[in-house]
Amino acid sequence: MIPFVDLKAQYLSIKEEIDTAVLKVLESTQFILGSEVTAFEQEFAQYCNADYGIALNTGTSALHLALLAAGIGPGDEVITTPFTFVATVAAIVYTGATPVFVDIDPVSYTIDVTKMEQAITEKTKAILPVHLYGQPADMNPIMEIARRHGLIVIEDAAQAHRAEYKGQRIGSIGDIGCFSFYPGKNLGAYGESGAVVTNNPEYARIIKMLRDWGQEQRYHHVLKGYNYRMDGIQGAILRVKLRYLDAWTEARRKHAALYDKLLVNSGIITPKVMPYSHHVYHVYAVRTSQRDLLQQKLKEREIQTGIHYPIPVHLQQAYADLGYKVGDFPCAELVANEVLSLPMCAELSSEQIEFVSAVVCESI
Ligand SMILES: *Cc1c(COP(=O)(O)O)cnc(C)c1O
Repeated sequence: MIPFVDLKAQYLSIKEEIDTAVLKVLESTQFILGSEVTAFEQEFAQYCNADYGIALNTGTSALHLALLAAGIGPGDEVITTPFTFVATVAAIVYTGATPVFVDIDPVSYTIDVTKMEQAITEKTKAILPVHLYGQPADMNPIMEIARRHGLIVIEDAAQAHRAEYKGQRIGSIGDIGCFSFYPGKNLGAYGESGAVVTNNPEYARIIKMLRDWGQEQRYHHVLKGYNYRMDGIQGAILRVKLRYLDAWTEARRKHAALYDKLLVNSGIITPKVMPYSHHVYHVYAVRTSQRDLLQQKLKEREIQTGIHYPIPVHLQQAYADLGYKVGDFPCAELVANEVLSLPMCAELSSEQIEFVSAVVCESI
């Protein structure tokens, strides 16, 4: 069997360091926040080239608090893409604001910057681009349009730890960057976790308060806050794993290059790396009109695959009240029908990639 992601292999490769780090937290009883989390916040912010990092319980909370810190609430509109994980949109709805979708670019699968400006109204407060699959959205035009209209930019970097846009680490290009450390992400905790990074001290201050019941000091609640704190154990684990992220990212990029080479004549569409991007391949998604057949053939050979994502958010039942319909975002709808994510993680072997590629070639 070839797994989609091999969390066990990765744990075994760093078991000793992880076990030591976890035991240290157990001994310290700093189960929530604490010195390991504080150290991780500093190390992760530095890694992202940002002044401030705030550790949270999930990536969804990161998006929620980033939006709240930016002052977004009922009556406001936030521009984003319908071709994303549902959390991007859920976080906007949590604040009471309205998500406004813009279709994706059919090549990069990130928000189509040429269609963004026409979605701006007097209610628009922010743009929330998603660095889908580990490829940065086209940040220069996004920042330029945002600045011209006085909008805040919040990056959904949940799939793109260490990705770069024109040589600059994502997360610190917009006003606030939001990360998830869900176990399957490129940097994954051993439970739920997330973080925001920012260069803005005021946003950092507000987010830090909001994650811990809006307290400025204990039992002095300045803001209506949340319980969005990171566990001490997760902070300790993430500190260990952050030291491997460069090597793991390089392994993913090498695996992607091998897939690219082996699939070049397969008749399927392989991921296109945009000239501005350093892609970190959270997902290696190929595209074919025979997606369901290909997935079935791979399954027969015990190769796990995924679909990210089969239904764009504007067509999800839960968000029907936003009033969108089939045909509103043709690129997102087409791509959702055709993408298939092949096994991808640092621990894959070249032999496994060769096997998967051979099965893909003979299946199509
Ligand atoms: C994973 C993910 C999130 C949410 O992160 P959680 O840690 O699971 O809450 C948000 N946006 C995108 C694009 C994601 O992939």
